[in-house]
Order: sequence, then structure tokens, then C-alpha cells
Amino acid sequence: MAVEESGVPAYGAIDTHDELITWSRAYAKEARREWLLDVRLDLVEWTVSTRARRRAAAVKRPQIPDATVGEPIDWTRVPDSDGRPLPCTVALTWDAFEAFSKTEWASTLRHELLHVEQFQRDGTTDHGPAFKRRARAVETDVHCRTFATPRWLFRCGACGQEVARRYRECAFVREYDDYRSECCSAPLTKSQPEL
Ligand SMILES: [Zn+2]
Ligand SMILES: [Zn+2]
Repeated sequence: MAVEESGVPAYGAIDTHDELITWSRAYAKEARREWLLDVRLDLVEWTVSTRARRRAAAVKRPQIPDATVGEPIDWTRVPDSDGRPLPCTVALTWDAFEAFSKTEWASTLRHELLHVEQFQRDGTTDHGPAFKRRARAVETDVHCRTFATPRWLFRCGACGQEVARRYRECAFVREYDDYRSECCSAPLTKSQPEL
């Protein structure tokens, strides 16, 4: 694993859940500055899910009674709160990380951070008009695409049979022209399926 000075792995070198969390937390800090996200990251916990099949990530949060998006909540009236927002958890889906480029993963994180922003201010969050406005402002999607589509398909250049699919940049994607297909010993072709 290639680790930079700061202890944050390069995106392409992430191998473990802990490394994915370290990278994502570091990105969240950067995004807060760059996109002026109003989030308290000290009140955010992070986990990695290997079970989620559809959502790239999700924010898990306590249900606060009588909370409405767009109406800032008085946290002092919330039981269990010491006046600060209650902690919430960003759950990251490992398969989505494997499927997404760095740009797509960063966009996914900004989407989740907008949920954190709404939750910490209003006590709840949704995908309504306020969310859509914020999503435009931080250049992320209102809905994440599914993560089952590979970025690249590799086929035998002679017979067209599928040889490999890859979800993100890796040595094979960079060096595929060094490989030959097993079926015909032919060079491989690379294509990007429609998303
Ligand atoms: Zn969402
Ligand atoms: Zn072939």
C-alpha cells in the first residue's frame, strides 16, 4: 500500500475498509473547505458495509420527533443531546467504491455530506427541493447511479469474447495491451459500456 506523508492512502492504493474510511474522512474535510459544507465532522462516524447492493452509501441517523427539513432544530430540546447535533454515521458500500472512479466516489461523499448537513441543522433529511438546490451547488447527483456497471470491458480482439471487466483504474486497465486472450492468443480490445 502506498501511503502519503499524512497517512492517507492514494485512492488507487486503498485495499482495506480502514483505508477507505481514512481516505473518505480526509476527503470530507477537504470538501467542507472547498464546497463550504456546513458540517461538524467530529459528530460523524464512519462504517463500511459489504452487504448493501444498491446504495453507494447512506447516512444512518436517529429519528428526531417533529423535525422538518428547512426548519433548523433546537438541539437543546432533543433528549440525549447536550445541545450539539446527535452523532450520525456515514455507511460506505465497499462494492460501490470498487465500481466507482475517484471522481464518482468523491461525488457520492458530497451527496452524503449534504444529508449530514441537513440532519445536523434540521434534525432530519430527505431528497426534496432544498436538497436538490444544495446538490446543484456542490455538483453532485440527487440520486446515485447503481454501481453494477463496470467501467471497462475487455474483449478478445479476434473473436470478441469477453475476457475481463474492471470497475476501476488498476494495473490491468493500464497495461491490457501487454495481455493476450486465452481463446485466440489475440490482443485485447477495451470499451466503456454505456452507463
Ligand atoms: Zn441521498
Ligand atoms: Zn478469442
